[in-house]
Amino acid sequence: MKLHEYQAREIVAKYGIPVTGGGVASTPAEARKLAEEIGGKVAVKAQVHVGGRGKAGGIKLADTPEAAEQAAQQILGMDIKGLTVEKVMIAEAVTYEKEIYLGVILDRGTKRIMLIASSEGGVEIEEVAKTNPDAIIKIAADPLLGLQPFQAQQLAFAIGLTDGKQARQFASIAMALYKAFIENDAELAEINPLVVLADGSLKALDSKIVLDDSGLFRHKDLAAQRDDSADPAAEIKAREHGLTFIKLDGTIGCMVNGAGLAMATMDVVKLFGGEPANFLDIGGGANAEKVAAALDIILDDPNVKAVMVNIFGGITRCDEVARGIVEAQKIIKRQVPMVVRLVGTNEAEGQRILADASLIPANTLAEAAQKAVEIAQG
Ligand code: GDP
Ligand code: MN
Repeated sequence: MKLHEYQAREIVAKYGIPVTGGGVASTPAEARKLAEEIGGKVAVKAQVHVGGRGKAGGIKLADTPEAAEQAAQQILGMDIKGLTVEKVMIAEAVTYEKEIYLGVILDRGTKRIMLIASSEGGVEIEEVAKTNPDAIIKIAADPLLGLQPFQAQQLAFAIGLTDGKQARQFASIAMALYKAFIENDAELAEINPLVVLADGSLKALDSKIVLDDSGLFRHKDLAAQRDDSADPAAEIKAREHGLTFIKLDGTIGCMVNGAGLAMATMDVVKLFGGEPANFLDIGGGANAEKVAAALDIILDDPNVKAVMVNIFGGITRCDEVARGIVEAQKIIKRQVPMVVRLVGTNEAEGQRILADASLIPANTLAEAAQKAVEIAQG
């Protein structure tokens, strides 16, 4: 789950990282009021779940509250990389001498939490990785002991912060960001830019946090901050019904129970020359209502020319799935041929329920995939 900058900023501030003052506004009038409270120059910043807002025109500096109101007027409603801006952050603007990058990520390759820093801040780190990879320094935190203060100091020196006081401040910011990452079950915590002010001290100008969805049950307050507006409608609907759904570009809609079986199903579809339209795991023990919701989501995709249902009944009961399919067929908006392979718990009962529905039965995974591919290719 992605947090907005204004939400991430609140978290990092709580961990003692120095941030610029300000607040969030949904109207130009609110923006003006915040700018008046801050006094002086402010930055008006689009709150959307993408980087590179500056380049896209989503960040404007304003000298007066009137100018802030105007800037907010321009930015609110703006389209940035396909996302509509609904909120702007009004932050005290600062002048700075240098931009630094600091990030904490979960690195799957090394199975470690990595601290990443670069003297080339301000631009996206992926860009630095391409143009100047040597400017990126990485340090792994020990899984048992956590990030050690000496490691944070090493990172400071490695990116050229050699002044003792500055290096100590950087190290304490790095330690704090690491702590925020761990305690909030994040996948990513990033400050870019972390700027060096004229007096040599450091300040976070932009914070980004992505939370691990699987850890959200431990953070009800953070889960409540979810902003779905940027997510595809199908994914929101799937989440509401407890389904794991990822849209793909093919023509064969897949409904499967279990992530492993869902992947195997997609592999077999590909093997027979087809392209899956989605990954969909209805989970273990799915009931009829869930199955109906899943089919509804699949058929919302106009690319889908055939549906392939592959259920291996264990905890999931075939009769429940069959009932869901029958339910769904009553409410679906368009007719698409459906190939169904249903085996396992209560299989016979499931087949009986489906006998009257106009479906194409299949006994094996290969047979089901072959039939679905033939239909999809017309
Ligand atoms: P991003 O492009 O979406 O990552 O947005 P950022 O918040 O990182 O801002 C991009 C750039 O805008 C920064 O690298 C700065 O150059 C500039 N910027 C943002 N806030 C301020 C500010 O308060 N003062 C000044 N002078 N520049 C700012
Ligand atoms: Mn940034």
